[in-house]
Amino acid sequence: MKLELKEIIQAVKGRLDSNTDNILVSGISTDSRDINKGDLFIPLVGERFDGHSYIKQAEENGAIAAMWQESRPIPDTNIPLILVSDTLKALQHLARAYRERINPIVVGVTGSNGKTTTKDLIASILALKYRVHKTKGNLNNHIGVPLTILSMPEDAEVAVIEMGMSAPGEIEVLSLIAKPDIVVITNIGESHIEFLKTRENIAKAKLEILKGLQPKGLAILPGDESLIRAAITDFDESIQVIWVGKEAVNNSYPIEIRMDDTEQVNFVDNEQTRYSLPLLGVHNVINALMAIQIGKKLNVPISDIKKGLANLQLTGMRLEKLRGRNGSLILNDTYNASPTSMKASLRLLASLKQYSKKIAVLGDMLELGNHAHEYHLEVGEFCADLGIDKLIVTGSLGELIAKGAIAGGLNKNDVYYIKDLNQIPEIVLQFSNPQTAILVKGSRGVRLEKVVDRLV
Ligand code: ATP
Ligand code: MG
Repeated sequence: MKLELKEIIQAVKGRLDSNTDNILVSGISTDSRDINKGDLFIPLVGERFDGHSYIKQAEENGAIAAMWQESRPIPDTNIPLILVSDTLKALQHLARAYRERINPIVVGVTGSNGKTTTKDLIASILALKYRVHKTKGNLNNHIGVPLTILSMPEDAEVAVIEMGMSAPGEIEVLSLIAKPDIVVITNIGESHIEFLKTRENIAKAKLEILKGLQPKGLAILPGDESLIRAAITDFDESIQVIWVGKEAVNNSYPIEIRMDDTEQVNFVDNEQTRYSLPLLGVHNVINALMAIQIGKKLNVPISDIKKGLANLQLTGMRLEKLRGRNGSLILNDTYNASPTSMKASLRLLASLKQYSKKIAVLGDMLELGNHAHEYHLEVGEFCADLGIDKLIVTGSLGELIAKGAIAGGLNKNDVYYIKDLNQIPEIVLQFSNPQTAILVKGSRGVRLEKVVDRLV
């Protein structure tokens, strides 16, 4: 990146405390420890730390200039300061200006589940034709999105940007910064319902991504989500829509899905093209179909789209396939959990025909607010419906999963409520062998990866 201080000042409507505005900035950092020589330091005010306290360290590490919130006392420093009323807003404005200057094709990805996976799938396909920049890991919030944009190389042709949220209004802000040419909503689930109260509100919040979509831009939407189908008629003149899912008209959907012995998924879309994917589960087929649509739209040849899917490099702990020390298959999905993603993963577990016994080790799904009780019972009933052989749950909400399962008809003797995480591996090992498939899943806070670590 090469940005002149002048340009930055203009973009953020800031004011310089000295008269040296012909400096060239070669990067941006909000963390004084990560400053490279020539970077602009943008101190942010967090809940526990105030970046402004680290100006000296930033300067020592080679910062060439810094942004500075006017309300903070002017520090004793030798580098020029750009004074702004709010450094976070300045970061966001700067990202918007930089996006406009580089002007790549921007793909924005939101949804309750599957954002990171779908982002990685899209980037993997598009990288075979374009120079692609994408969100690193999960940097998808009001700070992560601007930083993702600002770390884009000058020659990027495509930027694939994940956009997350936990409250209404957040996606709109991100979308207006990134100004996507293409947007994706993967699905609507129940994550963050604690703050958003209803699924309708969640759908509305995800649809905010359309606010920044370029005129006549393309939206890839979940056709099986009635809340999105109902909402979209208001927009239909101004945007192009491709639905992925069975329910919508003019849609794209898998007509055949097969899991082979190597635990790849093979599927055929409704244009009779066969793809294979190194990911498990029908939900990932939907994620892949969304990515395929973007590949087609941007003229990636079908042979390369297939290659892009096959070569996928994933960000960790999302439905990782591991081999247990007793030969069992372990599905490590301990990265996070919500009712939708729990059900998607349980459905996958139940569908693994080559394994004769299925064990689910499940923990709390956090941040579900008032609905937590019913959602946990429901997941339990779902386990019973699928005929999971052994259900092991932990956590205070997890106990409700056990209750739901027993109410749903699972034999009491096959349901275990284990308070202490450390006791779980032993029980799992006792019931499993190479013909067993084990799903381990819960919210991040439950730390179920500790169980996985002791099973492998
Ligand atoms: P976060 O909100 O943490 O950024 P995310 O939306 O980026 O999550 P991923 O990290 O891609 O989602 O996937 C998290 C989990 O969600 C996966 O392990 C899987 O269990 C589930 N998942 C992925 N795609 C879908 C989908 N389309 N429908 C339901 N569940 C899904
Ligand atoms: Mg993510």
